[in-house]
Amino acid sequence: MTMAFADKSLTCRECGNAFVWTAGEQEDKSLTCRECGNAFVWTAGEQEFYQQKGLLHEPQRCPDCRKKAKAERAAARAANMHDVICSNCGKPAQVPFEPRTDRPVYCSECFEARRSAPPPAAAPPA
Ligand SMILES: [Zn+2]
Ligand SMILES: [Zn+2]
Repeated sequence: MTMAFADKSLTCRECGNAFVWTAGEQEDKSLTCRECGNAFVWTAGEQEFYQQKGLLHEPQRCPDCRKKAKAERAAARAANMHDVICSNCGKPAQVPFEPRTDRPVYCSECFEARRSAPPPAAAPPA
């Protein structure tokens, strides 16, 4: 696959030096997954995407393992969710932390509403 890339001036995130990412560097690249050891192709299109994101490092994992890692993170987050009853509106909600009994918990809507609202002038006695 040949794609038309132009030379690009980039700035190193690490040292701040300017460098040129030449058009010829965006070629499909064979990499080895750190996770499963399988070879995978880092396509020129993906390299372009990485560059746009400001990521200058090669991917360490094959797309499959990246997908798996993403799913695992999502699952871990989901497993960490706790069912609560919103202290404000009484609706069932989920929070990503262990709720404390001495602290009010809010559903996402009430949490957002409270965060954007100015704090009350006087705090109620504990
Ligand atoms: Zn892999
Ligand atoms: Zn609520």
